[in-house]
Amino acid sequence: VKLIRLFVSHDLNAGAAISATREQAHYLGHVMRLTAGDEVALFNGRDGEWAAAFQPDRREARLAVSRRLRPQDEGPDLDLLVALVKRPRLEMIVEKAAELGAARVRLLITERINARGVNLDRLAAIATEAAEQTGRLDVPAILPPRRLSEVLSDWTAGRRLMFCDEAGEAPPARDALTAAAPGPWAILIGPEGGFTADERAAVRALPGALPVSLGPRILRADTAAIAALALWQACLGDWRGA
Ligand code: SAH
Repeated sequence: VKLIRLFVSHDLNAGAAISATREQAHYLGHVMRLTAGDEVALFNGRDGEWAAAFQPDRREARLAVSRRLRPQDEGPDLDLLVALVKRPRLEMIVEKAAELGAARVRLLITERINARGVNLDRLAAIATEAAEQTGRLDVPAILPPRRLSEVLSDWTAGRRLMFCDEAGEAPPARDALTAAAPGPWAILIGPEGGFTADERAAVRALPGALPVSLGPRILRADTAAIAALALWQACLGDWRGA
């Protein structure tokens, strides 16, 4: 049987007794109907995956950590930079980025965004739930919105940027990525209104920028993000064979 997986912030080691949050206790006891002694799997992004026994006690519940099931592994060092889009699409992007193995989602403010304000707690909860169900051993960080210009001005040297540019002259993504080297990367997806000419020029001027096309059709930001993540994983990430 596949164990229910839960993300916790606590350290995980044999003998640790972790108190479940109220939501976790409710989920395990009332939604999934676990009973005392049933096993779940826990991960915290640092210590690998551990088996733990469910120990309900009225409203509270404890998780008694027993043995390690899997060592921690390092996923690809891949950021998804995405301009703010309306909530349902942004939530979709965060969920899919977690499933598709992004390490971080960095929200961007650009000239043509038509969404303001984000609920970071809600996005973090979506990322956590996706990580739990997808089997990964960490949860992607969701970073608060920052201006594109700031993000470009303190760019980490050595991180390459797959710039998804629908404007026409960029080479096909697969060709460009196949010729590139693995390492720290980011993917950049613009808002529904696209980037301005100045923004495009600033992104293209970044030393590590690799403009790519995702084909002849204009995609919605959520579709573009999913397609780009899949292409990157297939060409440079953990979808490749040895
Ligand atoms: N400016 C466009 C819409 C932007 S689509 C218009 O209104 O016509 C939102 C984002 O998805 C773009 O900024 C780009 O990053 C990405 N995108 C969409 N289709 C794409 C394509 N065919 N190739 C590369 N990127 C694409």
